[in-house]
Amino acid sequence: MDRFKSFIKNNTDTFRLMVLLFFIVVLLVVFHVVSLNRMADIEVKRDMEMDTKVAVCVLDNKLSGLGSLAKQGAAAVARVSEEHDSVEFAIDKLLDTYVYAEQFDECYYLTADKKLYMQNGQLLPISDDQIERIWSEEDEPHSYRLLSDLGIGSSVFYMASPSYIGDKKIGYFLGGLTSSYRFSEETSTYMELESNIFLIDKDGHVFAEIDKAQDSSISNLNNLYSYLEGSTVKNSNEPVAGCFSTGGNGYKIISYDGKEYAAAYSETFITPGCSIVSIMEKDEFFISFVSQRKKEILIMMIDVLIIFITMLCMFLHTFRKERTLEDALCYDSLTGTLTREYFKKSATELLQSNKIDYCVAVIDIIGFRYINELFGRERGNEIIKLLAELIQESIGSRELVARRHAECFEVLVADSDSLKLSIIDISEKLKAFAINVDVTYPVIVRAGIARTTEKNRDIMDLVDKANAARKAVNPKLDVPIMDYEDVLQADIRQREEIEAAQEAAMEHGEFKVFLQPKMDVQKNQLAGAEALVRWIKVDGTMVYPDEFMAVFEANGFVERLDFYMLDQVCKMQKRLEAEGYELVPISVNQSQMLLKNPNYVEKVMDVLKANDTPRELIELELTETAFFGDTERMVDIMNRLRDERCRIDIDDFGSGYSSLNMIKDIPFDILKIDRMFFSDSNSGTGKIILEKIVEMAQAMGVDCICEGVETPEQEDLLRKIGCRYAQGYLYSKPIPMEEFIEKFMRKK
Ligand code: C2E
Ligand code: CA
Ligand code: CA
Repeated sequence: MDRFKSFIKNNTDTFRLMVLLFFIVVLLVVFHVVSLNRMADIEVKRDMEMDTKVAVCVLDNKLSGLGSLAKQGAAAVARVSEEHDSVEFAIDKLLDTYVYAEQFDECYYLTADKKLYMQNGQLLPISDDQIERIWSEEDEPHSYRLLSDLGIGSSVFYMASPSYIGDKKIGYFLGGLTSSYRFSEETSTYMELESNIFLIDKDGHVFAEIDKAQDSSISNLNNLYSYLEGSTVKNSNEPVAGCFSTGGNGYKIISYDGKEYAAAYSETFITPGCSIVSIMEKDEFFISFVSQRKKEILIMMIDVLIIFITMLCMFLHTFRKERTLEDALCYDSLTGTLTREYFKKSATELLQSNKIDYCVAVIDIIGFRYINELFGRERGNEIIKLLAELIQESIGSRELVARRHAECFEVLVADSDSLKLSIIDISEKLKAFAINVDVTYPVIVRAGIARTTEKNRDIMDLVDKANAARKAVNPKLDVPIMDYEDVLQADIRQREEIEAAQEAAMEHGEFKVFLQPKMDVQKNQLAGAEALVRWIKVDGTMVYPDEFMAVFEANGFVERLDFYMLDQVCKMQKRLEAEGYELVPISVNQSQMLLKNPNYVEKVMDVLKANDTPRELIELELTETAFFGDTERMVDIMNRLRDERCRIDIDDFGSGYSSLNMIKDIPFDILKIDRMFFSDSNSGTGKIILEKIVEMAQAMGVDCICEGVETPEQEDLLRKIGCRYAQGYLYSKPIPMEEFIEKFMRKK
């Protein structure tokens, strides 16, 4: 969760954008749903107005055609009447044969003496009312107008046009259209809605219905009421008139008989006062509109949801990718604890931002590698994982744990006391687990602890100190935990003890020469030996040089020791010579401290001379680090030694920072290659470097010897690359002088 939060923190912009988008969409949807009714209103109004306008255009076009025909009919009657001075003649002549009559269902003519003729010349009865509706003083010559049902013939509406002779109106031509007349279907194809469209006069009388459903019959409709009441003819003459009588264009909601109707109207251009009315029950439209819109909204929501989910997936994918990358960099794959690098970084941050005291611990299991060897790696891994888990459980959220290597962990905690308790607890739990899974090797957790001080908040230094403390833990302790402070104290004590004992040890001859053979791998025979010091105390305990050499180097006692060793070796050579052994050169180690003495060369010569030792029987081993700093002086010393025909070995070559370059300026006899190349020789690089060093030594005309040869394979390798000499446990560990003579020396 924390990592997701920090991921979001790093991607705030994208995330914000996503959230914003999401909310905008949600808002839009809510807005749409809420405003659905309003939108339906707007929509219905727009569509109906549109429809009526379309209808007006189409009908106007149609009606003006019919109007022109009526005009022509009226004009023709006037013309023939004038020529023959008889209206009847004209009617008789024209109506029946009148070519345009084909366009009307029925043609009539109303004369000035109020006789109504049909096209076949028959007279039709007509009431005064009907005459009144047709005959209007206002009619201009060459005009026409639309009349609704007059109740003559089967016509439902009429195009009426007056005939004039001069200023005198002689009658009306009436083109009638029956109920079977349909406005062309094309009218309805332009229309959006399922509304009903009527052509009405200013009183609300219906001329015609634009019939979309072909079977509906307009004959039943004489006014809009009849439509509203489901086509039942109502005897009321009272039309819905008022609504549309204002003319022009408009939109109205009509309430009638508990229902609401939406109606749009538009005045036709052809006949003033006549309008096209599009009318529709509001609910009908709403239901279809809302369900349509709901579908659209649903689809929109699904689309948006898909987009959102895709974005979310992409976002999560990126997060996961970053996390795997981060995992690889920051988390140990086996235990899920931090990597050392990440621990270092986080710990440094913690130490710098929090001024409280911390303690660093390095924790491992004593002799863990035996568990691995005896019970298998899998079991070993289980124990490592459990140890990691238990440590993680025991630390707080602002404390850290990293895997150092194998079963070794680095921990940064605030309180060392509770850490100690935790370690004891962890140890108990691990022991119980081990017993459970039949791991019979004792699982003992040990730890070294170092604390921050006012001056020291450097994590790497603290880790080093904690690690030193871990190594110094006495495994026999009940609670194998060691504080660096105590280690320091112990070191100081040990140093003091060593210093207090050194003189007496020298006097009592406690420093012994041990010898390790050097072999000629080509000839398979002894080629020499290296003298290594051992401190054998009165009680018989043997102390190795790495425990006291540093103290002696620091206090200068090393000078005495080294000359003592040289002297001992010289004396040994003399004795062996006397006893008739085949002699081999023996090397002695020379601390770099010795070289600081300006009389060093003289002192060496004094020892050799005093013992009368032939130069070729002694080799002086100088470590390559001795050449750092004052190279010039070093070269001078070496040259002086060489002048005295002393043999010089360059010890530990390759372990430090020596460069081949530096070596070429120094006169020496043997290059002693450090054993570290063998630990790398399996990897290939070590082998190549080894080979190159040997090659270089050969080119320089010096011998070389490899230290630390432990296996026959390593020996084979040396043979193969042409390294002549070897030294190591393969042949023998360093052993006491007498033992060495017995094992390796032959008499002449
Ligand atoms: P060094 O001069 O490099 O000595 C070789 C060390 O490697 C010896 O350790 C030897 O026991 C060890 N060794 C030999 N063969 C093998 C092998 O096959 N495998 C492994 N792992 N180790 C091997 P030692 O005797 O404990 O000496 C340690 C160091 O102490 C020496 O390193 C040397 O620098 C110093 N030292 C020993 N004796 C003297 C001395 O008399 N004077 C001075 N100045 N230094 C000495
Ligand atoms: Ca050495
Ligand atoms: Ca060495």
